[in-house]
Amino acid sequence: MRLLDKPKDIFSGGNQILQTIETIEPSLIKLEDVGKILHLLDDIPIVAVTCEDVDEVLDQFAEATMHGENVAELMPLIYQHIMKCLCCQPKYQALLRVLQAVRA
Ligand SMILES: [Zn+2]
Repeated sequence: MRLLDKPKDIFSGGNQILQTIETIEPSLIKLEDVGKILHLLDDIPIVAVTCEDVDEVLDQFAEATMHGENVAELMPLIYQHIMKCLCCQPKYQALLRVLQAVRA
C-alpha cells in the first residue's frame, strides 16, 4: 500500500501535532491525558490525505468493508478522510451500494 509506506509525508499537515505527541514520555501519560492526545490526532487536517489518494484506494476500501474487515484499523487515514470529506463520503457510500447490489 503506497499510502502507508510514507506515513511522514501523509502527516506533513499535522507534523507539529505529531511532534508534540512524540515528545510525551509514555510512562508519564495519565489516563485522563489519553483523551486529550486522541483529540490532538483528531485535529490533524483532512488535507493530510487528498481526495485523489482516496480515489486511488476507494474500491479496495469498499471491498474490504464488504468483506467485514475493520477498515478503520486497516486504513485509518483513508477512513478518517472519508468520514470527514463531503466529496468522498457520498462516493464511498455509492460504491458500497453498487457492491451490495452486485452481490445480492
Ligand atoms: Zn475527499
